Amino acid sequence: MSLIQQQQQSLKSIKNVLPALTSGHHCGIARNFSLKNNYHSLSTQSGVKLNTSLNNYFSQCKEALAFSNTCFKSQQQRFYSTPTNKKCWKCDADNKIEAIFCEKCKTVQNLSRGVDYFSIFGIQRSFDIDLKSLKAKFLKLQQAVHPDNYSTKSDKEKEYSEQQSSYLNKAYHCLVEPLDRATYLLTLLGHPTEESETLNNNVEFLMEIMTINEFIDNAECIEDIEDIFSENEARIDLAIRNLSIFFQAEVWEAAQNETIKLRYWKNIERSLKDWQPKNKGKK
Ligand SMILES: [Zn+2]
Repeated sequence: MSLIQQQQQSLKSIKNVLPALTSGHHCGIARNFSLKNNYHSLSTQSGVKLNTSLNNYFSQCKEALAFSNTCFKSQQQRFYSTPTNKKCWKCDADNKIEAIFCEKCKTVQNLSRGVDYFSIFGIQRSFDIDLKSLKAKFLKLQQAVHPDNYSTKSDKEKEYSEQQSSYLNKAYHCLVEPLDRATYLLTLLGHPTEESETLNNNVEFLMEIMTINEFIDNAECIEDIEDIFSENEARIDLAIRNLSIFFQAEVWEAAQNETIKLRYWKNIERSLKDWQPKNKGKK
């Protein structure tokens, strides 16, 4: 079988499993629950079924992806190939566009347009990133460029160190959060989530969100909240795993929808963390 045929077959099998993953099949927990009774037993039952079927989907997805990854490599390289160079403002040496310090004279450089949150850390544009190594890079660069080190330097160097330092901060805090990273990466690749109407028009999904919010509003004790919280954390984990698959397979609409879902789950997470028993809080 030729590479192209293998690629086509892989894509086909990814697309076969996608509808099940994206249609809200895995959201059965919340859809099935009844506000007033047996919330717990229903969610536990469907949780078991959910797990088995999801594991099947994931292993199918993984197999398909192993093939398509090899085939997509050249395509990805096209995406990832970036930079033009820039001249050091001090010694005129050639540097990469994202260089924070000049290779030759080690002077801090201005922040160039076109440097994105990935390239400033020298990492590929990808949803799957090594958070540990990102953090290490961030701390090292942030320390090197910290404005405190520049108090005795020229105004230009002070200005550039502040520029670089604040951009590094923004970049790190965006990349470290899966939701922000997905949103940013989709925009960077030309598929901003604002352009996806599918999920925002999905009445069933919006009803599910409303039901959960209603449940939170009506919750009377912390145990109710803890149950919803752990289910919501499971939804968040699942959305992140799905995003990894969709980004690797470059299925943008699915990635957009999953990002929007993740935004809802994160909002719910925030409401749950802010939850207070009624008699203590408002009214
Ligand atoms: Zn230089």
